[in-house]
Amino acid sequence: MKCSICGKEIETTFLNKIKGSYYKENGKLMPICSECFKKKFGGGR
Ligand SMILES: [Zn+2]
Repeated sequence: MKCSICGKEIETTFLNKIKGSYYKENGKLMPICSECFKKKFGGGR
């Protein structure tokens, strides 16, 4: 599973869940790594 923003490989757990997040864009579920998630959704804290 690759991050749809930076293209970096996102690790998956044994339950096939990604160690990252998904976000919805144009009705499609896109995988995103935690770093890009922070950037995109304001890790400003
Ligand atoms: Zn990324």
